[in-house]
Amino acid sequence: MSDHDPNCIFCKIIAGQIPSRKAYEDEHLLSFHDINPWAPVHVLVIPKRHIATLADIGPGDQELMGRMLALAPRLMRELGVDNGFRTLINTGKDGMQEVYHLHMHVIGGPRPWAKG
Ligand code: C5P
Repeated sequence: MSDHDPNCIFCKIIAGQIPSRKAYEDEHLLSFHDINPWAPVHVLVIPKRHIATLADIGPGDQELMGRMLALAPRLMRELGVDNGFRTLINTGKDGMQEVYHLHMHVIGGPRPWAKG
């Protein structure tokens, strides 16, 4: 598997060929604000290496997945989310995945439709 897919929109964001509003970056991960947010704070966390879906991770990706998950609470704290958040990974056609580069949605802040 190649680290970079030239046809992948998120690989283009990683390469800086498509602009994004970055929330975090290190050598393994990038996080940026979703262009179509569902809530006041809605970021995506993606690996820099092209992995199409969660179903494509291998045994060597456990540390990477841990890094992705561990970034969520840190990012939410930094973005001022202090009342909880959702994490979501859509996988494949029936999982309603639209962009085939593994990504975790992290969604926080008060939602207009939330009760209480
Ligand atoms: O999980 P799913 O594949 O459906 O989500 C893809 C997400 O990527 C969408 O929420 C969409 O708004 C976001 N997106 C983005 N920037 C792009 C293209 C898609 O934030 N340039």
